[in-house]
Amino acid sequence: SSSSPRNAEPGKRRPSVAVQIGKVIVGGGAPIVVQSMTNTDTEDPVSTAKQIAELARAGSELVRITVNTPAAAAAVPRIRERLEMMGVEVPIIGDFHYNGHQLLEGEPACAEALAKYRINPGNVGFGKKKDSQFAAIIEKAIQYGKPVRIGANWGSLDQSMVAMLMDENHTRAEPWDAAHVAREALIRSALDSALRAEEIGLSRDRIILSCKVSGVQELIAVYRDIAARCDYALHLGLTEAGMGSKGITASSAALAVLLQEGIGDTIRISLTPEPGASRTGEVVVAQELLQTMGLRAFTPLVTACPGCGRTTSEFFQELAKTVQAHVRDKMPEWRVKYDGVENLTLAVMGCVVNGPGESKHANIGISLPGNGEAPSAPVFIDGEKAMTLRGDRIADEFVGILDNYVATRYQA
Ligand code: SF4
Repeated sequence: SSSSPRNAEPGKRRPSVAVQIGKVIVGGGAPIVVQSMTNTDTEDPVSTAKQIAELARAGSELVRITVNTPAAAAAVPRIRERLEMMGVEVPIIGDFHYNGHQLLEGEPACAEALAKYRINPGNVGFGKKKDSQFAAIIEKAIQYGKPVRIGANWGSLDQSMVAMLMDENHTRAEPWDAAHVAREALIRSALDSALRAEEIGLSRDRIILSCKVSGVQELIAVYRDIAARCDYALHLGLTEAGMGSKGITASSAALAVLLQEGIGDTIRISLTPEPGASRTGEVVVAQELLQTMGLRAFTPLVTACPGCGRTTSEFFQELAKTVQAHVRDKMPEWRVKYDGVENLTLAVMGCVVNGPGESKHANIGISLPGNGEAPSAPVFIDGEKAMTLRGDRIADEFVGILDNYVATRYQA
């Protein structure tokens, strides 16, 4: 069966309803979409448009911005205009909390300029106002023909739902623990809100759901559950994943398990950037996650050995870095010129132990000399030894071979 452990491929995708966001399709078997979010003040259209453009150029196929004040809502159409002037087409998603109904009503040009609205059922409004405010946002989505993500979040659970489930829990022979109640509250909140949106008149192909939590095991449990209970397209992401390697590891661990099971139609890796670091890092991680799992291909990736005591220098690690950076730099041009170039595979290896073998598996591979080996570096092209490089211009020569290979192998 497709779930056989011998099968070296991701599992079958969970069937979901396709949703169109601008020109991008999420769900319905479409390639898994990479998205990200700005951290600029949306009231500032110059810096927000600039960051959206950076994220889009890095490969973010959808970009979300917070729309939290009347001035932010007023800035949205100006952001859209700036992006058009820059030739950036990426759909923009508006993230609304508490006052979305007022902002969409007060700024029709914002309601129109956004490609999707994101609302959180836990903080659409409180008490008696909640239902009418939720309905007001859904009606705007219907009026403007926009899809909506109903995004529940562990940090802002719908408290009336939690209270209701706690009451239900008393009637159970074996009551659920608090974590189970919270998971169910999150899922039920998303599913009930989706049902309500459909009752108001929003069609199923305009609804995406998410249930974000910050723990890896909880996220896997929540998404397995909601995936089995509906066929809405799902947005995956570990919320508050954190900074640096911790955020990357936690997000990759959680998302990889779900993606392998076919769950998830669009992903966001929520990383806290190091001070001064670019926001685009999360886009690169999302692409690398999908590509290393064999789900999509964006950029040729370099297979490199970690190095060990058999290598005489760190030169080969530098070479691996140089080659990966060269490919990333060239990709915007290559992507336009050469069909399929993102599937190219490269290997940079440190010695004869695994070097030639791994290099033969790649389209282009180089095996540098290890300790005690002759100072020569065989280059393998499509599995055959093609030439041997020597001396201190190996890096330049290898990059030249790569460029030449791309230009001759891939058709313009
Ligand atoms: Fe060490 Fe050679 Fe293996 Fe690289 S290929 S990790 S240098 S033994």
